[in-house]
Amino acid sequence: MTYVLPDADVLYQALLARDPRFDAVALVCVTSTGIFCRLTCPARKPKRENCEFRASVEACVAAGFRACKRCDPAGVRSPGSWRDGGLSEA
Ligand SMILES: [Zn+2]
Repeated sequence: MTYVLPDADVLYQALLARDPRFDAVALVCVTSTGIFCRLTCPARKPKRENCEFRASVEACVAAGFRACKRCDPAGVRSPGSWRDGGLSEA
């Protein structure tokens, strides 16, 4: 299954707005902190140039990022989302 992320600019706007419709659409990896978050994370918003958007927890981890403790991106549960590929339970 190939999942194509929306445009990064769209995702960044969703990040700034904490748009709940985008909660399970993508994850944001913040290159300045080495953390990845849900787009709806309550933490302070990173600069655009420090954001890399990825489609799955696995992709973020594989790129060397750690899960944010505030929004717990690895705990996202959203039917019909990218999670459906199946992560093993922590
Ligand atoms: Zn977060």
